[in-house]
Amino acid sequence: MTPQNRWRLYFHIPYCHQICHYCDFAKTALFDKKEVALFFKRIRQQFLALFSYMRSLHGEIYFDSLYFGGGTPSLYSTEYSALFQVIERYLNPNVEVTLEANPNDICLENLKVWRDLGINRLSIGAQSLDHEGLKFLTRNHSVSDIYRSINLAAKFFDNLSLDLIYGWQNHTPGIWQRELKESAQLPLQHLSLYNLTYEVQTPIGRRAHRGLIKPIDDDVLFDFYQIAMECLADQGFCQEEVSNWFLPSFAAQHNRGYWNMDYTLAIGPGAHGFLPSHSDSQLPDIGLRYFYPRSEKSFLKTKEFVFQTKNHQQGLQEVGLNIDERSTDSWLLEAISLGCRSEIGIDLAKAEYVSGKKFQPTPLIHEATNKNILHICSKRILTLDPKEWFREQAWALKILDCFQT
Ligand code: SF4
Repeated sequence: MTPQNRWRLYFHIPYCHQICHYCDFAKTALFDKKEVALFFKRIRQQFLALFSYMRSLHGEIYFDSLYFGGGTPSLYSTEYSALFQVIERYLNPNVEVTLEANPNDICLENLKVWRDLGINRLSIGAQSLDHEGLKFLTRNHSVSDIYRSINLAAKFFDNLSLDLIYGWQNHTPGIWQRELKESAQLPLQHLSLYNLTYEVQTPIGRRAHRGLIKPIDDDVLFDFYQIAMECLADQGFCQEEVSNWFLPSFAAQHNRGYWNMDYTLAIGPGAHGFLPSHSDSQLPDIGLRYFYPRSEKSFLKTKEFVFQTKNHQQGLQEVGLNIDERSTDSWLLEAISLGCRSEIGIDLAKAEYVSGKKFQPTPLIHEATNKNILHICSKRILTLDPKEWFREQAWALKILDCFQT
């Protein structure tokens, strides 16, 4: 195992009260109690099987963060007890344990159970602090539900994050500024701000495709992004990634693990995990990405995982998981892209070591460095001006051009 890599643990809970029209996650609103009971049994079984398999290949593993995403994990509370009994001994001290929560599920009873289980951070899916925004996004809660839930949750948790979406139809810079200012006045330590995307298989994506909705231009989205940068800096927030802001000492550990390419054991329909590609710590590691099929019904039908080979890729495929085809080139593009959208940046020495290529800046990159758009520190970490994180893809291709054999 590469010693510098941390391990993360993720569970995908696919159940929702109702389906929001912009949502492209693996989820369902059609389920019953029996299915949910079986689901919790399955994720426990699969954690044990996958975890034992990884330990047999890589030695002791302890997790630095645990994340319940969805779907709507806050639909459940005591249902997590048996799972926590199994995993808690493998969590490092000071582990960050996040549960994504819908404002409507935040009540005294659930908050107590979540806190007693060891959950120490809630990520609250508000999506908008504007009535029109909530209506467009077809959310099932009101603005006052959001305020009530945050104020109540703050009595139990000192690490709360809020998700907001910008760029919905009729969203204006003025409304956005108001939402940001109001968020900063709430007892929140972290904000995740995403621009609305119109994925083809979603209801709003189909409406956009038929010309019934006109998505906001990228230039205007960039204005929204800049407003967020300025407004939140004024309110004392630091920015760690294109979509993430935090108050000092409340950076999102689990999210950081993703940007840093830490190993992630992920379980549940549609969940994506990242594992070492081999067990030899002397060799460069491009990692192995796997993902579950999205259907929760087929997830429930999976048999218990049995691993009979020391070859990860084969072992994961044999139990029905999908593997992303990877190469040193795809690793390099991924490392550059992640580095171009966060303060973590690109570790040029590591990039050269893993890719076997040399970083030779093109004139364009030299110019960007001279203009302070790009910065290379004494430890050879390349970082991009946060304003440009929004254009991460274009920059990633320009920086990729600098790596030559
Ligand atoms: S946005 Fe969240 S609550 Fe809405 S359907 Fe998707 S996963 Fe469920």
